[in-house]
Amino acid sequence: MIYFDNAATTPVKKEVLDAMLPYFSEKFGNASSVYQFGQQSATAILEARQKVADALCCKPGEIFFTGCGSEADNWAIKGVAYANRNKGKHIITTAIEHHAVLHTCQYLEKQGFEVTYLPVDEYGKIRLDELKAAIREDTVLISVMFANNEIGTIQPIKEIAEIAKEYNILFHTDAVQAIGAVSINVNELGIDLLSLSGHKFGGPKGVGALYIRSGVRIDNFMHGGGQERFKRAGTENTAGIVGLGEAIKLATENLSEKTEKIKSIRDYIITNIEEKIPYCRLNGHPTDRLCGNVNFCFEFIEGEGMLLLLDMNGISASSGSACTSGSLDPSHVLLAIGIPHGIAHGSLRVSIGEINTMADAEKLIEVLPGIIQRLRDMSPLYEEHLKNN
Ligand SMILES: *Cc1c(COP(=O)(O)O)cnc(C)c1O
Repeated sequence: MIYFDNAATTPVKKEVLDAMLPYFSEKFGNASSVYQFGQQSATAILEARQKVADALCCKPGEIFFTGCGSEADNWAIKGVAYANRNKGKHIITTAIEHHAVLHTCQYLEKQGFEVTYLPVDEYGKIRLDELKAAIREDTVLISVMFANNEIGTIQPIKEIAEIAKEYNILFHTDAVQAIGAVSINVNELGIDLLSLSGHKFGGPKGVGALYIRSGVRIDNFMHGGGQERFKRAGTENTAGIVGLGEAIKLATENLSEKTEKIKSIRDYIITNIEEKIPYCRLNGHPTDRLCGNVNFCFEFIEGEGMLLLLDMNGISASSGSACTSGSLDPSHVLLAIGIPHGIAHGSLRVSIGEINTMADAEKLIEVLPGIIQRLRDMSPLYEEHLKNN
């Protein structure tokens, strides 16, 4: 099997699993218990928090563990909106956010908040002058994702943070796709809140974290015990947290070496698709894109057919098209960069991770042109196109 869906999830690394295993059984103590057996769990959580803080260049006291990346996004946005609602009820985000951000914003709109969804250019970048123009007296939060999960476009985070600061507005970024791909220093970049998720960089599913710069006004997310300094109650997922800590350490060390390797696989795939397959379009930014992201639209085909045929060849990839995402609408991200409905249905996302090799890419390039041709040969639209040209 060739796994090219690393933006959806990644396998837990062996070192990560080894670090986690004792905390399910022999070291099962509750971190809130005072006896030593409980305290060894508390220490493990402390160490994991330090590893996340090291990866982001912040203080461990600014890291809060959550149940997933979606929870971190929910908390950042709802927490800041509610805690600052006396100041204002306006939020700015973008049209291409992950649903964990978009649906949270839509929920807040029902609660009486107002949200501006910034458009993006053809490469998926927001325009800074449009961000500035959207700022109002009552804007309390700007939430712009670090890098897009579908098309890989990286936003001008530092410039956005500078604008937020100039207007005294809090800045949150969903960095779930950026960890292990881009080096992040929250202080240098000026980020106030940042979401991340363990399973996107070699850690386990069901654990994430939210960085909250000290001094940021935010409501507590889960009410109950005193865990996560009373902000997020619930007995800690010790094994998951230990796994996330180990995973972020591994994902962020020797970063440039790893990303260079992944980038070379990405560029091989992009060059060969453009060379071998007619009527295709690379989605996302040509240079400011995640090292592991390839996203193409192929005219005259449906994404699902392509994914099935790839699967039959042992290749797992993804598409922003209809059936795969369980909805009839094509990807909101592809529509936002101006791809017409019909063409957006024929998209392919290949997301490359540390587990991939150049041989995987060669195999993909060996089978993909034939798959596309086979689907086009069955397409009435393609037949019509050939007749007219
Ligand atoms: C995967 C993902 C999330 C959600 O993370 P979960 O841990 O799966 O809830 C949020 N934002 C982006 C950009 C993602 O890629």
